[in-house]
Amino acid sequence: MKKKVLVSGGAGYIGSHVSVELIAAGYDVVVADNMSNCDMTCFEGVKKITGREDIPFEKIDCCDYASVDRIFSEYKIDAVIHFAAFKAVGESVAEPVKYYRNNLLSFLNILEAASVHGGCNVLFSSSATVYGDAEHLPVTENTPRLPATSPYGNTKQMSEDMLRDVVAATSSYDGKDGRWPVKGIALRYFNPIGAHPSALIGELPRGVPNNLVPFITQTAIGKRECLSIFGNDYPTEDGTCLRDYIDIVDLAKAHVAAVSRMVEGKMAKDYEIFNIGTGRPVSVYELVTAFEKVNGVKLNYKFAPRRPGDVVAIWADTSLANRELGWKAERTVEETLASAWAWERHLAGKL
Ligand code: UDP
Repeated sequence: MKKKVLVSGGAGYIGSHVSVELIAAGYDVVVADNMSNCDMTCFEGVKKITGREDIPFEKIDCCDYASVDRIFSEYKIDAVIHFAAFKAVGESVAEPVKYYRNNLLSFLNILEAASVHGGCNVLFSSSATVYGDAEHLPVTENTPRLPATSPYGNTKQMSEDMLRDVVAATSSYDGKDGRWPVKGIALRYFNPIGAHPSALIGELPRGVPNNLVPFITQTAIGKRECLSIFGNDYPTEDGTCLRDYIDIVDLAKAHVAAVSRMVEGKMAKDYEIFNIGTGRPVSVYELVTAFEKVNGVKLNYKFAPRRPGDVVAIWADTSLANRELGWKAERTVEETLASAWAWERHLAGKL
């Protein structure tokens, strides 16, 4: 019997790439999404890439426990990957209640249902933002988390803690009172970028993109006039910030490795954390020039003041994930930037 994975937020950028890789690895997937931040483009792309027209799609809001409970009752779920969350840092500062309510309540419901429905494995989509402005680089999973600088970042920290606590509390459960043990993994993503090589799925930001790569591709296609590089006076070689840009397909494969580790009973502890990055710092300026070079396009950009809240540099020590998950980032930055450009051209009908 194939193992079944519920992907909450599965119609979004990361969820759609993860669904493709799960299906390729022999898992059955159930996609749940309330479509609050996407349309059906990526889900349709997933069906096309995998050749699977029959992927169950459930339009539900995970903040509604009855809906989550129904999905767990209807499908025999072996693992859930929880992506369904708001992710705009600036908006979270302006509307904290919206962020705390959505991001925490939806995850609480998933955790509750996972325990009630036979004890299910939970993979939480966390972020390198939990490390804040880390003193020592690269960061390992033991690098202390720093106080979050936005409600968004705080929901990531709080959700990690909720998973840790539920795993600890349920470890002694045996189903007698209708609850079973939950095991969990949190993956801390660095900067996911790029698109599937088919150019059928990718990032679809609504409105003006906050993230660097969609802003680059939209500028290159002519949707935006000029890219602002936020800060060129940082204490780095070229003065721009350093990040660890991880290819979206590589990132998706890390989820497959983590899910397999859970469902095959190979976890070293009942709650585990892994950094998912490349281990290579790349500056904003390097990324911009690599994009121009690999795609043969000239990008209109200017240097602008620093963006409030940005840390100067962060990148991952990935040795734990490499060793324990048997996973490693493989695509080069150039390949990834070519895929991002192909996706933007696909959206513009130019591919
Ligand atoms: N950045 C930029 N111009 C933009 C968007 C982002 O210079 O229009 C920079 C940003 O200051 C940071 C890096 O690109 O140094 C990555 O930003 P992003 O928002 O993609 O991810 P973050 O690292 O903030 O999660």
